[in-house]
Amino acid sequence: MKLIFERGHEGQGCTVLPEPDVPEFHLETPGRELPLRLPHVSENEISRHYTELAGEVHGVNSGFYPLGSCTMKYNPKVNEVAAALPGFTGIHPLQPVGTVQGCLDVLKRAQELLCEITGMDDMTMQPAAGAHGEFTGLLLIKAYHESRGDKKRTKIIVPDSAHGTNPASAVMAGFEVVNIPSGADGCVDLDKLREAVGDDTAGLMLTNPNTVGLFDRNILEITSIVHKAGGLNYYDGANLNAIMGIARPGDMGFDVVHINLHKTFSTPHGGGGPGSGPVGCKAFLSDFLPGPQPVWDGDDLTLAMPPRSIGSVRTFYGNFLVVVKALTYIMILGRSGVADAARNAVLNANYMMRRLRDIYHMAFDDVCMHEFVMSLENMKHDWDVSAMDVAKALLDYGIHPPTMYFPLIVHEALMVEPTETESRETLDEAIAVFREIYELSQSDPERLRAAPSRTSIGRPDEVQAARKPVLRYAFPDGWK
Ligand SMILES: *Cc1c(COP(=O)(O)O)cnc(C)c1O
Repeated sequence: MKLIFERGHEGQGCTVLPEPDVPEFHLETPGRELPLRLPHVSENEISRHYTELAGEVHGVNSGFYPLGSCTMKYNPKVNEVAAALPGFTGIHPLQPVGTVQGCLDVLKRAQELLCEITGMDDMTMQPAAGAHGEFTGLLLIKAYHESRGDKKRTKIIVPDSAHGTNPASAVMAGFEVVNIPSGADGCVDLDKLREAVGDDTAGLMLTNPNTVGLFDRNILEITSIVHKAGGLNYYDGANLNAIMGIARPGDMGFDVVHINLHKTFSTPHGGGGPGSGPVGCKAFLSDFLPGPQPVWDGDDLTLAMPPRSIGSVRTFYGNFLVVVKALTYIMILGRSGVADAARNAVLNANYMMRRLRDIYHMAFDDVCMHEFVMSLENMKHDWDVSAMDVAKALLDYGIHPPTMYFPLIVHEALMVEPTETESRETLDEAIAVFREIYELSQSDPERLRAAPSRTSIGRPDEVQAARKPVLRYAFPDGWK
């Protein structure tokens, strides 16, 4: 496709700016040495340019997107309508609290509903993403131990199946990471956990259902081992899709949890758009939360810093409009709708898994939660068709590939998360595609190794792209 600089020509354009309503001001300081080169395109051409660009992208609105651990569900458009209301978009973060009672009410209600869903007592909406939530939650754990004069708790236990952000956040928060291997069933190995805990354990970070899509049946035992050793339990709730409205981290023995509004609670993500990673905690950690927090002052809401706050982790109140979307989503679904969404997410994943397990090898052939992991090790061995080849082939059928090569404990992994918002017809079509690709891996493996053939780029050199990114357009006339 043409770049915008390759469209239009000098003299063409569509800038119709209104007369300025303030005096013009010319900067004295030296400006650019070269004139700014902007594309000269008509409005029509611009519109075509962006429409064409949008067509290059695979989104939830263009097709099935079973990207495990990312929860690419359909985001109802009504969320956007709510977030675009002028009362939400036209405010300033420093406005007097008396003039933004409705917005504070949104924050408070979202906190209360999400606390109910997670089984927590209090929450901050400040963190801007899941990893940011992990960092914040770990600082709460640190502040708690320090407040008790317990200085030797410097270690965070992280299972080897954890999302990569877990150990990274622990290091960022100043902890040392202790990795523990998973058992053969993909769950926490209780003996290994017992060996790992001690009086230097600050806490455990865990995902349940874990990253192989299984609910750890020993969860109460796990959290109690950590508590008995004096540590706290951190729940990575980025993907709450399997349990929301059904099971609560707070009831499983967790003290701190983050959730990704931009996964479970239906806010568009991917492409780096704004996220939100609220952190919930049990009452004994409430005083350490970041602030300012919305609190009741008689019948009004006001903002206050928790007494022993770790400080702000982001400016103002987090990505407020993302919270508006999440609150809209939860309130429209209601109590039973939230639980139904979780049930359907689990049903859809199990349906796909069961319709594929006769040919694809499931890494853990058990009832799965919202996602399942297959291992293509046999296909790689027998026909030299890798998880990458299958992922690339799916693109030719208009399906976004599942998550590849994660979790690290499964070789040639493909992790499929269909989500609750896909119909049975879509799942059946995807199942048929997976089966066709399986047949091709024997009859025509070359085709899979050469896939994709219908996208504008096929297999970029990812290493080179990361090490030597070309971020600058070379104008044909040499202009720089
Ligand atoms: C996505 C995810 C995260 C990180 O969330 P970001 O918003 O991308 O920072 C953490 N843990 C798990 C299990 C995830 O799936």
